[in-house]
Amino acid sequence: MRFYLTISKDSSKGLRLLQKKTLVFMMENILGSENIMVDEPMKNHCSFKVGGNADFLVTPVSVYQLSEIIKLCKKENIPIFIMGNGTNLIVSDKGIRGVVVKIYDNMSSYNIKDDILTVEAGMLLSKVSNIALENELTGLEFASGIPGTLGGAVAMNAGAYDGEMKNVVIKTEYIDNDGNIKTITGDEHQFGYRTSCILKNSGIVLKSSLKLEKGERREIEALMNDLKNRRNDKQPLDMPSAGSVFKRPEGYFAGKLIQDCNLKGYKIGGAQVSDKHCGFIVNTGEATASDIKQLIKHIQHTIKSSYGVELQTEVRIVGEE
Ligand SMILES: Cc1cc2nc3c(=O)[nH]c(=O)nc-3n(C[C@H](O)[C@H](O)[C@H](O)COP(=O)(O)OP(=O)(O)OC[C@H]3O[C@@H](n4cnc5c(N)ncnc54)[C@H](O)[C@@H]3O)c2cc1C
Repeated sequence: MRFYLTISKDSSKGLRLLQKKTLVFMMENILGSENIMVDEPMKNHCSFKVGGNADFLVTPVSVYQLSEIIKLCKKENIPIFIMGNGTNLIVSDKGIRGVVVKIYDNMSSYNIKDDILTVEAGMLLSKVSNIALENELTGLEFASGIPGTLGGAVAMNAGAYDGEMKNVVIKTEYIDNDGNIKTITGDEHQFGYRTSCILKNSGIVLKSSLKLEKGERREIEALMNDLKNRRNDKQPLDMPSAGSVFKRPEGYFAGKLIQDCNLKGYKIGGAQVSDKHCGFIVNTGEATASDIKQLIKHIQHTIKSSYGVELQTEVRIVGEE
């Protein structure tokens, strides 16, 4: 059993030990026992299928529960990591210390007013796009094949096929780093290439409003199907991965640079440069996070020495080193 050494702000005793069991009890009071997992393998929650255990993984069902868990962790000085569907993560083999808060289908309600779709952070983008389709709203087709949640997509400004969340998000309610609920509109998100002020400042997306437009159901569906087929043709969707590993370097395509360096199919342990799309690393079955990280370093080193280009990761590498 692991023990947390915490500094309790409201205790004159200062340092005290908070036993894992005690912490579970305190979290159960907030979440109920069904929404707390102890020593949970992160590989079960990430599309790469790698990663050691999280000390705790919790799945709040409401903003109230989420806020209370954050308050508790802050008070007890326990680190928190927020995740959605784990489709852009490499979690280290040692796992994650503290509490992982998974904002997923427990928090995925929505409403529509005219052409504005407001969605809670935990809903999958594929579902959000389908709701838009069902309501004959266009503008979100680009996102239908991105496997993350709305919250992860807003934080990361996810994008594909010339579309990005920046084009549709007009308002987001989030919890800031001090635990306060705030609302920002359009430009205040400071969306950049796969980033936003929420990601930079460790905010937590609660819900966002997406401004769409009235469209023709048949056309929306046709575009979604076309993009789906293009993904199926180009991407190794039958193998565990986290999508494109690297950001697009200015003036180049990461996948093309990697292919031109003859790294297609290159393998370290169970991690391999996909032979379908060189911008993807896939888990061939027994990969560890360490294999993937070593392969990333090897690719970065090779591209730097061949082209002088520094490849930066789009995937987020997290957990205890
Ligand atoms: C096969 C495949 C294809 C992909 N194609 C694309 C693509 O075309 N375009 C693209 O942009 N991405 C793509 N991705 C990557 C990934 O799906 C996106 O980055 C997605 O937005 C991540 O969402 P998530 O819910 O899985 O977030 P996670 O992977 O769980 O987390 C990613 C980051 O977002 C943060 N985060 C998650 N939820 C919240 C929240 N509620 N509030 C604040 N921060 C949060 C996490 O802390 C973390 O830093 C692909 C991945 C795969 C596996």
